[in-house]
Amino acid sequence: MVKDATLASQFDPEELAELLDPQEHTSTPPDDPNLKLSLLNFISFMGCSQGTYEAARQNTQQCFPDIELLSYYQVERRARNLSGIVTWEHHMCVDSCVGFTGPYANMENCPECGKARYKEKDLQESDGERKVPRKVFTTFPVGPQIQARWKHSQTAKDMHYRWEKTQEILRERAESGEHHGIYDDILCGESYLNTVKGGVIDEYDTVLMLSLDGAQLHQNKKSDCWIYIWILVDLAPGKRYKIQNILPGGIIPGPDSPKDLDSFLFPGLAHVSALQREGLPLWDGYRRQRAISFLFLLLVLADAVAMAQLSGSVGHHGRKGCRLLCGFIGRNKAYGSHYYPALLRPHGFENHRTSSHPDIDIHALPIPDTNKYRTDLFYVIASRTKVEHERRRFNTGIGKPSIFAGLHRILPLPTCFAGDLMHQPLINLASLLLDLWCARPGARDYDHSSDWPWAVLTGAVWKAHGKVVSQAARHLPTSFGRTPRNPQEKGSSGYKAWEFLNYIYGEGPGVFYGVLPEPYYSHFCRLVRAIRIIHQHTISREQLVTAHKLLLRWVLDFELLYCKRNPDRLHFVRQCVHSLVHLARETHRLGPLWLSSQWTMERVIGYLGSLLRQPSNIFRNLAAQTKRVANTNALVAMWPELQKTKGDPRGSKDLGDDYLLLGPKDTSLYQTSPAEQAALETFFSGHPDAEDIDRQSVYRWGRLKIPTEQIARSRWKEMELCSDMARTDRNVKVCHSV
Ligand SMILES: [Zn+2]
Ligand SMILES: [Zn+2]
Repeated sequence: MVKDATLASQFDPEELAELLDPQEHTSTPPDDPNLKLSLLNFISFMGCSQGTYEAARQNTQQCFPDIELLSYYQVERRARNLSGIVTWEHHMCVDSCVGFTGPYANMENCPECGKARYKEKDLQESDGERKVPRKVFTTFPVGPQIQARWKHSQTAKDMHYRWEKTQEILRERAESGEHHGIYDDILCGESYLNTVKGGVIDEYDTVLMLSLDGAQLHQNKKSDCWIYIWILVDLAPGKRYKIQNILPGGIIPGPDSPKDLDSFLFPGLAHVSALQREGLPLWDGYRRQRAISFLFLLLVLADAVAMAQLSGSVGHHGRKGCRLLCGFIGRNKAYGSHYYPALLRPHGFENHRTSSHPDIDIHALPIPDTNKYRTDLFYVIASRTKVEHERRRFNTGIGKPSIFAGLHRILPLPTCFAGDLMHQPLINLASLLLDLWCARPGARDYDHSSDWPWAVLTGAVWKAHGKVVSQAARHLPTSFGRTPRNPQEKGSSGYKAWEFLNYIYGEGPGVFYGVLPEPYYSHFCRLVRAIRIIHQHTISREQLVTAHKLLLRWVLDFELLYCKRNPDRLHFVRQCVHSLVHLARETHRLGPLWLSSQWTMERVIGYLGSLLRQPSNIFRNLAAQTKRVANTNALVAMWPELQKTKGDPRGSKDLGDDYLLLGPKDTSLYQTSPAEQAALETFFSGHPDAEDIDRQSVYRWGRLKIPTEQIARSRWKEMELCSDMARTDRNVKVCHSV
C-alpha cells in the first residue's frame, strides 16, 4: 500500500495545486508592518503561552493604536498559509495499539484489543451519524517542509551543500585513490557514494534520514509517546542537526506502546513514496529556477526496541539478534530463551540443543547481506503454518517484511537500518562494565560461586571513586557539556548518555588507574582508545583500521578475561559487546557514526518537552507545539530575517572577526607591571598603530568569546572564583613555541 500511494490521494485539490506549483519567492518578508510584527512576535514567543502573545499584542495596541496586530488565532493561520506546512490527523486506538490507516482505515474497532474507534456517546446521540474519534495521532508530511528550505537564496544555497561536497569527495578520491580518504561526513560513506556513482541520487534530490524514538515528556509514565523526525543530509553537518533544520515527521501518543508501529508510520511513508515516484517540484531561490527533487531515504535510525519493529527483525534477545541483521548466531543458556552473541562455546555445550556450534572466528564474522536478507524473508513469508513460521523466524532472525520495503528509493534492506552509537557503545556497554566492576546483583546472581577479580568498585572503594569522578568534573571545560555526577550516588539509572561518555571514555583511563587491576585496566584502555577514534569529527583511514583491530581484540579478550567459557557468565555477552565489531566497518560505510546516531532525536525530545505548557492534555499540546515549531522553522527558512536574534550581552565589546569581549571589566584603569608591559610590547611589535596603544594603563576583561562560540576566561577573574564547584576553562593547548 505504501508502494502505490499517490499525492492526489493525500492532499485536497487546493493544497495539491500549491504543492505541485511552487511560486517564485520574494526574498523579503511581507512588507505589511502589522503582519510582519505579528509574525515576529509569533516566532519570538515560541515556548510561551498564547496568553503571552495576546498580552504583548494588547500592550502594543494600547501604546500605538494605529498598529493592528493579528490575534493569535489569525497569526497562526497566516503562518500556516505562508509556510505551506500541512498537518494530518488520523484516528488511532484509544490504547495506542494501531492507527486506523492502510489496511485498518475502515475498521470501527481496534483489530488488536477490540476497543471502539469512535466516541460512543456522540454515535448514540446522533444515530450513528457523528463519528468523533477517541484519539488521534499527528503526521507532518515532509514535502511542503522541504519546499520551504529551497525558497530563499541563502537557505537554498545551504541545501546545495550535499551535491557540492559530493563532487569534491569524488574528485579527491579520483586523484588520490579510494583508500586515502578521510571520514568527516555521511557523504564520505561508501553507501552514499556508491548510490551516487550508480546514478540513483542526483543533484536536486533530497537525501533523508528518519529517526524514531520513544520519549517520556514528564516524570510520570503517562507521558510516554513516540516521535519521529526527518534529518536533511543535504545540509552541511554544522547546520543539519540544528533544531531549526529538523523536519518533524509524526507524533504518536502513548502511554501504551504501539503494537503495530507501521500503521502509525503509514501516512508519512506513503507520502514519501508518492514523492519518490512523482517528484517534488521546487523553486530554487539561489539559482532562481525550478527543479524537481526525488526523495531518497538513506537511513532509518531508532533505539533497539523500536528498530526491531521497523526492520521486522526478531529483536536483541533472538538467536540472530544483531540489529544490523548480520546473521551472527547467538547462544542461550540451558533452558533460557534469551540468546547472547558469544563467540566462544562455553564449557559443557558440546551437546547443547541450540548452541553447540563451535567457536566463531572473530576475523570471519558475517556482515549484513542484502541478497541473503531477501531470500530469508521470502522463506519466512512462505511459511504455511504458525509452527513453521516460528521455526523459520527463529532460523533467520526475520519476523516479518518491513514497511520500508514499500519505498522506491532507499538503501537496500537491511543496510538502511543503522546501528546506534549512543545507546549501544555508550549507555549499554558502560552499564555492563559498571555492573561487572560493581558486582551488581543482576549480573552477579547467576554466578554465586566463582571469584570476580575485576569486581573492585564496592564498599569504600566505590564511594571514594564516586567522589573522585564528581570532583574531576571541574577540570572539564564547559564546552565539554554536562559533566558526570557522582556515579556511586546516582546509580546508573538517570545517568545521561553524555555523562557516560565523559565518565567512562573521557575520565575513565584516569579515574580507573590504580583502581581496576591488570589485565582488566589495559583491556579497558584499548576500548577507550578505539571509542575515542570512532567519535572523532575527522577520522583517517589509518585510525579507523587501528580502531577496528582494537575493537575486535577487545571483544575476544572480553570473553577470555571475563566469561572464561563459563556457562553461568554467558549473559555478560550482551548485544552491546557484539555491536563493537561493526563500528569500524559501519564508519567506512556511513561516515562518522555520531552523525547518524540518536543524539539529534534526544535533543529534539528535550526541546519539544521544554515547550509543553499543559501537562493535563499533554499529547494534544505536544502536537500543537510541534506544529508551531514546523511552521516557524519553515517561515525562518523562507525569510531568515524573521529569525529571533540574540543581541550581544550588555557591556560586551565586539572586536570583529567573531571575537567578543565579555564582562566583568575593570571599573578603573589598571596599571600594568613591568613584566606585563614587556609582554604587551612583544605582542604589539609590528602592529600598524602600535605607537598609539597605551601599555601602562589598561582595562582588563574577564572573558572572551572566540569564533567557535567557546568562552575563554582571563586569569585575572578566574583566580578569584576558584571555589570547589566552579568549572575551570583554563585548559590551554599551545601549538607554537612561545
Ligand atoms: Zn487497541
Ligand atoms: Zn552483527
